Amino acid sequence: MQVRCIQCNHPIEVPPDVELERIVCDSCNSTFNLITGKTDDARGAG
Ligand SMILES: [Zn+2]
Repeated sequence: MQVRCIQCNHPIEVPPDVELERIVCDSCNSTFNLITGKTDDARGAG
């Protein structure tokens, strides 16, 4: 399925077996949770 990055609105193709709690945007490299709709940057990614 396809979702949009909550940070940059970039369309992201999500495989059916990927964890919806940890989507990585290939445009802005943000990691976010589709379940809560929040970014996961607090974990100190990078
Ligand atoms: Zn993005």
